[in-house]
Amino acid sequence: MALKTAQEYKDSLKDGRVVYYKGERVADVTTHPELSVCVDTMALDYEMAENPRYRDLAVVSDEALGEDISRYYHLPQNGEDLLKLFDLIVASTRLGDGFIPLAHDIGADALNAISITANILGNSDYIARIEAYRTTLKKNDLAVVTGMTDVKGDRMLRPSDPGQAHPDYYVRVVERRRDGIVVRGAKVHISGAPYSNELFVIPSRAMTAADADYAVAFAIPVNTPGLKQVGRPFHAHITSLEFPNSRPLRVHTDSLIIFDDVFVPWERVFLCGEWQVAATLVVNFALLHRRTGCAYRIPMSEQLLGVAKAIAEYNGIANAPHVKEKLTDIVIYLETLRSLSHAACLDFVTYGGIAVPNPVSTNIAKYHFANEYHKVIKIIQDLAGGLLVTAPTFRDYQLPELQADIAKYLGAKADVPTEQRLRMLDLIRRITGADRETIALHGEGSLQAQRMTILAEARKTIAQCQLMVEEQAEIA
Ligand SMILES: Cc1cc2nc3c(=O)[nH]c(=O)nc-3n(C[C@H](O)[C@H](O)[C@H](O)COP(=O)(O)OP(=O)(O)OC[C@H]3O[C@@H](n4cnc5c(N)ncnc54)[C@H](O)[C@@H]3O)c2cc1C
Repeated sequence: MALKTAQEYKDSLKDGRVVYYKGERVADVTTHPELSVCVDTMALDYEMAENPRYRDLAVVSDEALGEDISRYYHLPQNGEDLLKLFDLIVASTRLGDGFIPLAHDIGADALNAISITANILGNSDYIARIEAYRTTLKKNDLAVVTGMTDVKGDRMLRPSDPGQAHPDYYVRVVERRRDGIVVRGAKVHISGAPYSNELFVIPSRAMTAADADYAVAFAIPVNTPGLKQVGRPFHAHITSLEFPNSRPLRVHTDSLIIFDDVFVPWERVFLCGEWQVAATLVVNFALLHRRTGCAYRIPMSEQLLGVAKAIAEYNGIANAPHVKEKLTDIVIYLETLRSLSHAACLDFVTYGGIAVPNPVSTNIAKYHFANEYHKVIKIIQDLAGGLLVTAPTFRDYQLPELQADIAKYLGAKADVPTEQRLRMLDLIRRITGADRETIALHGEGSLQAQRMTILAEARKTIAQCQLMVEEQAEIA
């Protein structure tokens, strides 16, 4: 079996995993009234592979295995491979109405970043283990997510700094055994982990010799003993205050993952003490994952452009000069993101034998998305008007004694029914808001993380520019 069906994926989650949500231990994530919505969102990845419309994008034929596998586990060799992968992430996020299914993308980013790191390190044990693990993922079409972000404690202190309140703010090795290692610590904000099969764990920062125990990377099944997760609450259903909508709601949760002395067998350990390459792993994962993040953000930005145009039209202001300017701003926002992301794939570089998108354009694309996001939301809030927060609810609209009044007084453009305007406002509320604003800013790293990478990666260009002007100024 290389490709799983959506049902097989769902069945694979009934494995005794320890997940807490809203103050309770969850017996089965697939039947939980809220988490099952996330499971359905992740299952979209598996449905795509079964759907003839997407199969070419979602599936590649693996020569070594002689089977079809998920494209995510195929090693990119060139710009075309990178673009196809990018298009797959965009298509799956469109299918998820702005939510990436998450079954393979973030795990594949970690897998490839670890491969690059092992190849650069030239460690044949790690290279063999990671390739064996890649084969396991391909053969079983496992869902994998990645835990990079440590809880960190005091941000200005290193993991091993004695000033930290305790030594477990970053995941670390507490015991080395003949058959494996034991790890302790916690990762936070980990998307999709309560309903993934496997979890990659990688360091979240550069390390020093004193931090060697924290330079650890591994992959384990989510039901491994000692691993427990606490999911973040989210809105899983359209409430009775909103207009009914038959489209399934797509959503994810992000969890705090606690490693309570978890045993990891050596064959699943891909870094253990080599602190010198922790930064290489972090930088490469961040690069690949920012590319993936840019792909998620294209459908999200398309949604923002769509709702801005729709609500402007419904309010009768679509042809006002300031509104056209604002729509132009969103078009520039979207197309800059799209162009930079595509250029990054075509202008790829090869690290450790794997094609990766151009680091400077990728980081600028992600930075552009995050840095301008709140400005786009401001435009939408401006065009929508105050009804975005004051409109009567669907329940009020349903009352026979109110419906005609609401329809009469909350109409705007004559040919747009009031209900259409109110439904669009419901959608705008769902796709904007604090959750999305925070993920826009922090998902794939903070703004400062991208700026630091851009500066580091552009060092050669900066030096060349300085040399050029020094020649022009005839400075010896
Ligand atoms: C919805 C969501 C989903 C996510 N999914 C995942 C996931 O699946 N896997 C994963 O690994 N991570 C995930 N993340 C984590 C994301 O990558 C982090 O939120 C991001 O890296 C910022 O880290 P933080 O939240 O700890 O904030 P902090 O690091 O505390 O950042 C807060 C501020 O402090 C600044 N700061 C931090 N450290 C320093 C320092 N040493 N010096 C100066 N300034 C500093 C930052 O620049 C920022 O301005 C997710 C985040 C969100 C919001």
